Amino acid sequence: MRIGQCLCGKVKYSAETEDTFAVCYCKMCQQWASGVFMGVSTTSFTVTEGETHLKIARTSDWADRAFCTECGSNIYYHSRDYGGPTVALGSLDDTTGLTPRVQYFIDKKPTGFDLVQDTKTMTEAECLAHFST
Ligand SMILES: [Zn+2]
Ligand SMILES: [Zn+2]
Repeated sequence: MRIGQCLCGKVKYSAETEDTFAVCYCKMCQQWASGVFMGVSTTSFTVTEGETHLKIARTSDWADRAFCTECGSNIYYHSRDYGGPTVALGSLDDTTGLTPRVQYFIDKKPTGFDLVQDTKTMTEAECLAHFST
């Protein structure tokens, strides 16, 4: 079980997460998270404090993005057809042991930036084919 919170501390949650995280460079994640979104999949997710400060925005036909209305911190991305929310890596209190697993939309990655870690990568076309079925 991991716990997390936003920058101002009004929104707090607990979650069972995987030990890996996904990196996404799609344009929506870039606009939302300033270049790269790092998300940790959850198998359970509970807002433990500040639910009234959690704004869940429908940012596309298939996904929601949730953030704190007080400080603007990203809390999670949620692809509605794929289980629980993917929490923002940086919102977790402790990220010890989490390692990158995959880089989505690798062909949309900001130039002049590379992850040092070697992970699976998927292009936009591969992501759309994979997630639209
Ligand atoms: Zn906040
Ligand atoms: Zn994305």
